[in-house]
Amino acid sequence: MTTCAGGCHCRKVRFLAEGAPKFVTRCHCESCRKTTGAAFSTWVGFKTDAVRWTGEAPAFYASSTGVKRGYCRDCGVPLSYESDKWPGERHFLIGVFDDPRAFTPTGDYLREDSLAWVKT
Ligand SMILES: [Zn+2]
Ligand SMILES: [Zn+2]
Repeated sequence: MTTCAGGCHCRKVRFLAEGAPKFVTRCHCESCRKTTGAAFSTWVGFKTDAVRWTGEAPAFYASSTGVKRGYCRDCGVPLSYESDKWPGERHFLIGVFDDPRAFTPTGDYLREDSLAWVKT
């Protein structure tokens, strides 16, 4: 089975994801924009039981009720997203994988909230 590793910039927070992701999708919502600083976010979603933290555990920020966004408390890099809306899943930002080229987005979420110049 394929195992994909990733982590934050300072390498204190690390994770492993087993197997193929459930989805790879760009999200154009304002909450992702504000919490990552990027125009849109590309998420790689796994079942929670297919992923585990291997370095230090991240800190979590509740960007809204029922949402946990994981980030490194030392280097500040945002890594993950979990929500009561999608129970049993943990989503990682594509850029924190050691080999982000392994994934290609296949869809867009909340396209209508995207910045006007974003082409998908
Ligand atoms: Zn870090
Ligand atoms: Zn979003």
